[in-house]
Formats: sequence, structure tokens, C-alpha cells
Amino acid sequence: MSGPARVLLVGPPGAGKGTQAFQLAERLGVPHVASGNLLREAMERGTPLGAEVRSYMERGDLVPDEVVVALMADTLTAPDCVGFVLDGFPRTAAQAAALDEMLAAAGRPLDVVVLMEVEEDELIRRITGRRICPECQRSYHMTYNPPADDESCDEDGVHLVTRPDDTLDKLRHRLDIYNREAAELSGYYEQRGFLAHVDGLGSVEDVAERIGKAIEAAA
Ligand code: ADP
Ligand code: AMP
Repeated sequence: MSGPARVLLVGPPGAGKGTQAFQLAERLGVPHVASGNLLREAMERGTPLGAEVRSYMERGDLVPDEVVVALMADTLTAPDCVGFVLDGFPRTAAQAAALDEMLAAAGRPLDVVVLMEVEEDELIRRITGRRICPECQRSYHMTYNPPADDESCDEDGVHLVTRPDDTLDKLRHRLDIYNREAAELSGYYEQRGFLAHVDGLGSVEDVAERIGKAIEAAA
């Protein structure tokens, strides 16, 4: 791999993509780009995009492809995004094709796609205990991955919150959507020969090590 790394993490909600992407981006010295974080920030700031996506996100539905593709094209072709760790986008094969196109046009093709595999019972345990920092969006778990101080973010000390779409019924809906799209999405990358399957069970450190090895193997 020459130049800044371009890594994509895919997997079901709760697989640990955000947790791993945050650390990996720091280690590789590239931005962490998460579509869900960008969309939540747009809602928080009250932008027209935020207003447009709010009802989809509150229901746990996917935001329409063209909306998220336009947002990600702006972000991923910016001068500070020559390398990146991307998570949450693409979620459909149509988004994957759009991503390929925008990255090819920018001369920034992906180096590797890592599929994080975690079984459903564990996803439910992870999501129902998740808290996020509303400021920097860092993700914690009250049992598995707690902040140093009970209720606030290690980065900026802001009080942690539960995402409104992290309820059990919304999670089940999000998992149904994931399961509907996953085969086509992973098939898209499998066909192109750069999908690395990584076991997402175990400690955050163990999973990070597996992802590190998958990236090295792809280099
Ligand atoms: P995703 O971005 O894939 O939806 P997150 O990174 O937000 O997932 O992780 C989901 C939840 O699981 C969070 O509460 C996080 O702290 C926790 N978590 C992440 N990695 C692990 C792990 N290896 N073991 C246990 N819990 C984890
Ligand atoms: P996440 O933070 O990745 O769990 O995403 C939270 C929510 O943002 C999802 O349930 C969708 O409503 C929306 N979202 C994030 N990324 C995408 C995407 N690539 N395509 C469509 N909707 C998305």
C-alpha cells in the first residue's frame, strides 16, 4: 500500500465498525469518515440535509441512496480525504458502485474492504448497551467498553447519551434491512477480490489486531 491508506469497514449495526474505525484512523493518521455520524451532525446543526434525513433515521430506515451518495462524494473527494477509514457507507450495492465511481474519479481507490462478522445475539447486547458522545460521536458500551468516568466521554468530557434508534424494536428493523442488503453488498466486493472477513467477536484489542492483519495482507 503506497500513500495514505483507504480502508472500508462493513458489517451489521453493532459489529464494532465505529469503535474500530475511530482507533484505526488515529493509528493510520487519516480521517475517520462515518456516514451515520455525518448525518447525525447534520440533524444536530439543523441543516436542510438534517431535516431531510431525520424521519428515515428516526425510523431506522436507510436514507435514500442519492442523498447519502451526494454527501459522501463531497466528503471523500475533499483535499483532506486522500486517505480515510470509512464506515457506514456503502450499505447497498448501488452505493458501492457509486463509491467506486467517485473514488476512481478522484484517483483514490479503496485498498481493502473488511467485513466484520458478529452474530445477532451479540449485536443486540452491544447495541442495547451502547452510549455515544453527542459531541464527537465516539461510541462506548456501559459493560464491554465503558468510559473511564461513568457517564462522560474520555475525549471531551461531554455527557454520554443513548441513540434514539438503539431501542430493541428499531434495532430489529435495522438488522432486517442489513440482512436484506448484505449478501449483494459483500458479493459486490467479493467479486472484485478485495473483501477480508474478520471475526468481530472478542475484545476490542483482539478485533483491532485481526483487522490490522487483514490490512497488512491486502497491502
Ligand atoms: P457499529 O459502528 O458497527 O454500529 P459500534 O462501534 O458503535 O458499532 O459498537 C457497538 C457497541 O458495541 C458499542 O456499545 C461498542 O462500545 C461495543 N463494542 C465495540 N466493539 C466491541 C467488542 N469487540 N466487544 C464488545 N463490545 C464492543
Ligand atoms: P449508523 O450510525 O451507521 O448506525 O447509521 C445510522 C442511520 O443513518 C441509519 O440507520 C440510516 O438511517 C442512516 N445511514 C447511515 N449511513 C447510511 C447509508 N450509507 N445509507 C443510507 N442510510 C444511512
